[in-house]
Amino acid sequence: MADGTGKTADVAEEKIPFNFFKKIPKIELHAHINGSISTETIEKLIKRKVEQGNNDCLVSQWQTTIHKGEQRDLSDCLSMFGIIYQLVDDTEAVFLVTKSVIEDFEQDNTKYLELRSTPRANPETGMTKQSYIEAVLKAIEEAKRTAPNITVRFIPAINRRLGPDDAMDTVHLAIQYKEKAKGIIVGLDLSGDPKAHDSNNFIPALKLARENGLKLALHIAEVPDLDESRVLLNLIPDRIGHGTCIRPENGGSEDFVNIVEEHSIPIELCLTSNVKTKTVLSYSEHHMGYWYSKQHPCIVCTDDKGVFSTTLSEEYSLMARTFNLTEEQVWNLTFQSIDYIFGGENLKDDLKELWRTEKEKIISSLH
Ligand SMILES: [Zn+2]
Repeated sequence: MADGTGKTADVAEEKIPFNFFKKIPKIELHAHINGSISTETIEKLIKRKVEQGNNDCLVSQWQTTIHKGEQRDLSDCLSMFGIIYQLVDDTEAVFLVTKSVIEDFEQDNTKYLELRSTPRANPETGMTKQSYIEAVLKAIEEAKRTAPNITVRFIPAINRRLGPDDAMDTVHLAIQYKEKAKGIIVGLDLSGDPKAHDSNNFIPALKLARENGLKLALHIAEVPDLDESRVLLNLIPDRIGHGTCIRPENGGSEDFVNIVEEHSIPIELCLTSNVKTKTVLSYSEHHMGYWYSKQHPCIVCTDDKGVFSTTLSEEYSLMARTFNLTEEQVWNLTFQSIDYIFGGENLKDDLKELWRTEKEKIISSLH
């Protein structure tokens, strides 16, 4: 397929040229650093491992999965996370991947990016949660030079699997670095297996974050889980990640829908990620259709563009084809996304101004 999506049996043919999606300015609010690493950057990391004396057998196993690209099935995608975890095991690698992910998004005409990642320690390489955060911040600073046309913010993430003590520790660090790195750390994410721990155990950490000025972007209802959804939605988070199973027909409840609607909580929607991980059966059945038709705040996001072999432009293209949107509607979706960023009111004004200038340029180049 011309746009390289190649995974769209149930998606209508393209009416809008792919170049339009590439050209328009975009906002990305749900991108995990490690899942967003391109194949080229993974190759560089593998080279690094070989130079460090890693065994060839492991490397050739990695290569097979990595080079499947779009053909990766669910188990390949899951093994990709495992491979990346082994490759990004020191601060130099964290710096390298963060910077390259920012550059990729800039190349795709993303003008504002909120990256998220779980700070983790690795005693074998001397990496601490602190040095992990510092490496991310350093890469964001350095990328101002190599990718000057994108503004980047950071959202440290709690991984539920690591438990409530680790979550509290992450929040303390997020607060500490929020003060140090003026304006760069803007929120907190909760992700990972909802079955790993009772969601109630994370509430103190999430509340502490909020009391200290961090916005909450929480993965909620990726799979049906009434307790998890109830506990987290009652916090009235600032944004919802996925929200796949909020509606009663997807294993949620009418009460949940009411909370989301009443508070107009924006939803970060990741089409390819959901279809590839099979939490949504097909693009046409994606819950974006429901929320978009209700004019609810929707943000198109990639989640893990590297692992799922997509780009933000491709996600917009898929979304437009699936729900039969016009160029104007696509444009409005990117423009409205500005209102849901965590980067502050001044930045919103600047971005809106940029959108207005870009619109004139793009529309005149189209006609
Ligand atoms: Zn996610």
